[in-house]
Amino acid sequence: MSQKMSRKLVSDLKLLTKSLSTHCTSIQQSRSASSLAFKNAYINGQWVTAEDGRTFPVRNPANGDLISEVPDMQAKETQTAVNHAADAFKRWKNYTAIERSILLKKWHDIMAKNQEDLAQILTAENGKPLAEARGEIGYGISFVEWFAEEGKRIYGDVIPSAFKSKRLLHLKQPVGVCGIITPWNFPNAMILRKVGAALAAGCTVVVKPAEDTPLSALATCYFAEQVGIPAGVLNVVTCSHQHASEVGRVLCQSPKVSKISFTGSTATGKVLMKQSIDTMKRVSMELGGNAAFIVFNSADVDAAVAGAVASKYRGTGQTCISANRILVQEEVYDEFCEKLAKVVSQFVVGDGQEDGTTQGPLINEKAVDKVDSHVKDAVAKGGKVLIGGERHVKGPTFYSPTVIRDITEDMLVCSEETFGPLAPVIKFKTEEEAVLLANSTRFGLAGYFYSQDIRQIWRVAEDLEVGMVGINEGVISSTSIAFGGIKESGLGREGSKYGIDEYLNIKYACFGGM
Ligand code: NAP
Repeated sequence: MSQKMSRKLVSDLKLLTKSLSTHCTSIQQSRSASSLAFKNAYINGQWVTAEDGRTFPVRNPANGDLISEVPDMQAKETQTAVNHAADAFKRWKNYTAIERSILLKKWHDIMAKNQEDLAQILTAENGKPLAEARGEIGYGISFVEWFAEEGKRIYGDVIPSAFKSKRLLHLKQPVGVCGIITPWNFPNAMILRKVGAALAAGCTVVVKPAEDTPLSALATCYFAEQVGIPAGVLNVVTCSHQHASEVGRVLCQSPKVSKISFTGSTATGKVLMKQSIDTMKRVSMELGGNAAFIVFNSADVDAAVAGAVASKYRGTGQTCISANRILVQEEVYDEFCEKLAKVVSQFVVGDGQEDGTTQGPLINEKAVDKVDSHVKDAVAKGGKVLIGGERHVKGPTFYSPTVIRDITEDMLVCSEETFGPLAPVIKFKTEEEAVLLANSTRFGLAGYFYSQDIRQIWRVAEDLEVGMVGINEGVISSTSIAFGGIKESGLGREGSKYGIDEYLNIKYACFGGM
């Protein structure tokens, strides 16, 4: 691979999430990023503190700087938010779909105008490079626009009746108050992908964002307030990790909450599902992944390297659909490893707010420890580090982008989600072996493969046990597609024409005596 092409791949990485956005051109500076560093939670249209006044700090993971302190809320405040959401639901469900759509479009538009400031606050609290943060905002708000339209197309059915005296209908109705719990790795998009659908369907929500990234959530409330989304429809309860389980328990166990929608780890998802059983809630679960990225002998190796870079290193490897295991067939194995390491050697590690950074920090030191433990385990069992393989001099939350070859199945990287900038490359001989290996996990979110053999493409696309598959493509997210997993990667789908169904009940109505 030429120097020019390697440079292009690095610049592609920097810009890749931008391509998800159709809004990048409409930036206006109407609210500065520092003034989006809110200090209060948002309940029933009010900016409120915790009842006992307790707060927790929000820090920039790149340097530990304090950005803000937000309320450390507990069960009581969560119940208050649920009560207000339940009251607001009585009114919001009776708005016409068009009235809701108009408000959602205004909400989308004001966030598009303030995209740059939303991106700045996102980078400050999450660490991802600004170009990626801009892309995430464009992606996140696109769900608000999408569901503003989808909400107008919630059709029921008129069913051909088997009885002359009866008329049969299906009505679709909003499920009610939704508890929404989200992670730190996409602090804007993981919220708006759910909230856009819920509000368009006529539901109201209580959102619990991650401890590390509450500010992006609060910023969306600020703009919702500006455009007149009624009090109680969108509520954000902030809390530290110490109180996450009690806040979650109220959302899962309150009979006033009809649905839980969660994005995060499989372990937490299982806890929330168990807690939701007694009230028989609807649940949607977007959980962890362990994506296999397969490169067959017939693949265009340069394209496969570009796809692996995009899939593996976006968000410094902290995305649920990141390639976790890279499987390469023997004839192209050496070429692929060499080319991948060459591109990775050109990454620029640093503060996401600095120009030119392609790899930001990890979210915290615990995340760095996990990557380091996977690297050490692989090396101890015979893996060969081609690049990286150590903590980065930039600081305690940074890890050097790493490529390791000669990976074997017994290594931790094969069974656990690394969630960091480590590309482990495994050699395989046959298609059967690759598919078996790819499927040898309880996870089933995304998978990828590169091949130019059309029969193989169909076979492998069908055989991979995942909810989403990238074929000769490493970037698969889009507003219009059904995002979600199978096996222990989750239940339900977000985005697309299906996403709104997660927030609707079907009611059968039988008209007699006709
Ligand atoms: P996590 O530990 O499960 O946390 C996710 C959210 O759940 C956070 O808001 C967290 O609060 C909260 N939480 C944790 N324990 C809780 C409990 N007992 N009750 C109620 N809430 C609780 O996950 P994470 O490590 O932040 O996120 C990374 C994981 O998310 C990865 O596994 C990744 O694959 C997955 N993910 C999946 C998707 C998808 O669409 N499938 C998308 C993005 C990420 P605190 O922040 O206060 O701990």
